[in-house]
Amino acid sequence: MKLLEYEAKAILRSAGLPVPTSSIVADLENIPKLPAVLKSQVAVGGRGKAGGVRTVETKEAFEAAAVEILQLEIKGFTPRVLLAEEKIDIAREHYVSLLIDRDTASIRLVAHKNGGVEVEDNDKAGFLNIAIDTSSLEPCAEKLAAHLGYETADLAPLLQKLYAAFIENDATLLEINPFVFTKDGNFVCGDGKMELDDAAAFRHPEWDFEGAPVEANFVTLDPHGTVATIANGAGLAMATVDAVASAGMKPANFLDIGGGANTESVLTAFNKIMEFPHIDAIVINIFAGITRCDEVARAVIAAKQQIPDLPPLFIRLAGTNFEEAVALLSAENITTLATLEECLKAAKEASNA
Ligand code: GDP
Ligand code: MN
Repeated sequence: MKLLEYEAKAILRSAGLPVPTSSIVADLENIPKLPAVLKSQVAVGGRGKAGGVRTVETKEAFEAAAVEILQLEIKGFTPRVLLAEEKIDIAREHYVSLLIDRDTASIRLVAHKNGGVEVEDNDKAGFLNIAIDTSSLEPCAEKLAAHLGYETADLAPLLQKLYAAFIENDATLLEINPFVFTKDGNFVCGDGKMELDDAAAFRHPEWDFEGAPVEANFVTLDPHGTVATIANGAGLAMATVDAVASAGMKPANFLDIGGGANTESVLTAFNKIMEFPHIDAIVINIFAGITRCDEVARAVIAAKQQIPDLPPLFIRLAGTNFEEAVALLSAENITTLATLEECLKAAKEASNA
């Protein structure tokens, strides 16, 4: 689950990290302390470049900018709220992040002296990229300080808090870009991007975020995966993920819609899948017992109608109310396939096209 900036910053703040003073703007009535930096709260990067981050000095400028940013679509998302932050006087912008690296089964610290909106253009060689030694953060803090050009004593406590926030919140990514050094000599987290491990939702009753997993049975496997899966029953859901991988494609998620799935819960799953940026096929594999095929069919039809840019669907249904489901779907010109193998073959052809 990707947090919005204000959600991530609330976590950073409670972990004792320096974040700018801020307030949430949901309508034009609550005017923030001015001057302020207004920031679109969408869970994608590149807001600055897209015009979603604007400094306002007056009440009039605030109102005009707020109206514009609330309507501004960034990479397919429009914000529900804005974050109004105190303006910070930036001397330097760095890039600092912690992330789970599955290949080496470690947490890595990645940093660059030049952060900010142009970070993608940075020279690859200029990145510090080291595995965190979980027994002591001191060596990492030394390398980070040397890399960014500060004293270890100044950065070690910040790295300590960043790491604690990462671990305690079951994060898979915590990125501070820009990590700001202000003109008056303080460090501030200028932006906060955080991704949490959906599979850990069961031990975080406090997770109450906009994109919180409604279903504990939705697990992100690969944020860059290309094939999303929807199945019922944990066994069938796992088998479906495995079959996608064996067919040479990258499964993005595991989802067991469970026995009591209704149109609404399946539709929620579709919306969740739409958060993945690289999906080019959705494979639906239902062997209905308690689950009813017609409920799934209704959700598929609703998803087709409500979600623009819905990737192609490859549907295999069997079991309870199968005939009714096929009738509903064919009335909408949505076809089903007889087996999972056929779905995978068609998905592969579609994604290679
Ligand atoms: P992103 O583009 O989605 O990553 O959004 P950021 O929150 O990183 O903001 C983009 C850029 O806006 C930053 O890199 C800063 O250069 C600038 N910015 C954001 N907040 C402030 C601020 O309070 N003061 C100043 N001077 N610049 C800011
Ligand atoms: Mn940023």
